[in-house]
Amino acid sequence: MALTRAAFDQYMVPNYAPAAFIPVRGEASRVWDQSGKEYIDFAGGIAVNSLGHCHPALVGALTKQANQLWHVSNVFTNEPALELAQKLVDATFADKVFFCNSGAEANEAALKLARRAAIEQFGEQKNKVISALSSFHGRTFFTVCVGGQPKYSDGFGPKPAGIEYFEYNNLEAFKALIDDDTACVILEPIQGEGGVVPADAAFLQGVRDLCTQHNAYLIFDEVQSGMGRSGSLFAYQEYGVVPDILSSAKSLGGGFPIGAMLTTAEIAKYLVAGTHGTTYGGNPLACAVAGAVIDVINTPEVLAGVKTKHAQFVDGIQAINAKYPVFSQVRGLGLLIGAVLTEAYQDRAKEILNIAAQNGVMVLMAGPNVIRFAPSLIVSDEEIATGLARLETAIAQFVA
Ligand SMILES: *Cc1c(COP(=O)(O)O)cnc(C)c1O
Repeated sequence: MALTRAAFDQYMVPNYAPAAFIPVRGEASRVWDQSGKEYIDFAGGIAVNSLGHCHPALVGALTKQANQLWHVSNVFTNEPALELAQKLVDATFADKVFFCNSGAEANEAALKLARRAAIEQFGEQKNKVISALSSFHGRTFFTVCVGGQPKYSDGFGPKPAGIEYFEYNNLEAFKALIDDDTACVILEPIQGEGGVVPADAAFLQGVRDLCTQHNAYLIFDEVQSGMGRSGSLFAYQEYGVVPDILSSAKSLGGGFPIGAMLTTAEIAKYLVAGTHGTTYGGNPLACAVAGAVIDVINTPEVLAGVKTKHAQFVDGIQAINAKYPVFSQVRGLGLLIGAVLTEAYQDRAKEILNIAAQNGVMVLMAGPNVIRFAPSLIVSDEEIATGLARLETAIAQFVA
């Protein structure tokens, strides 16, 4: 019996509203559904499929590891985890790595570490967490409460205390909140879910300086902005502003679930044996794949390619907009791009997503007014051209 979309409504918890078609196969930046219809993938599984679908290096790493060792738990360490940790340390500010399975878990670890380290050094009162409005840090109860979007955290009962919010990119507002009781500040260098909003360089530097002044840890949530998406391996390197703790996930696994928290030896020492953990974290399969991902992405060719492709996307979207003016702004860094709908088309991003899919191109939204592009970092010229041509047809239908 063929599975249909109706099975979703029958068997699955209704917390998602997936598209009507069901993808069954992918190759590079193309996906095919059950009926054999082809889509160009500019969604990248929400900034996850950093090397497209079924990249030979990732298939190779996964199958090799699958024939060797799948899981041992953290009662034992394993070679793929140690290799990946070394690669991440060599490529970043960090000295130490903690592995988990998702972005939310990486942030949960980051926040717990920051509070623990702050409290042990300065006392119980140093526990305040500062976060930006419209930010997104995951869906565990702590991270969703830290994320500045009440629509995701309301209605689940009492929230953890000690979290305060300010307007992103507003240094004055931040300055008014931070004090000596602040344990940490968590920020996305580019707000993803919040609408693809890049930080101003002066704002990030100002936050860094104030954190240092108040002995507060600066956490960069690079779950979406990291692993090459900005054109540097991590967006902090693009800005030249170094955090104390960094979270990674999404593109890190290229489609295999993994998360990582990176930090310095000085801070890491507060997460002593027994203070935190996860059964699957550092799983050999996940780490083998992520090791292959970083080998491919962290090369001058791929990172420079991200910047070239950024220009191709922005030019292409602007050309569509010149014919059918629906966007007021195209923003973002590297291959995380947001096209903002004009006043006339408010709240209609979802409609564009659906029409685009009908025309054979998958795009994302970032809130009701922003069309988001988060394709493979190695999407080809041909795939970009074909996808944008299909998007143009879709937008022509949308405005008609
Ligand atoms: C997606 C995302 C998360 C959550 O990651 P999950 O793997 O879904 O838990 C956290 N922070 C940012 C910036 C994200 O984009």
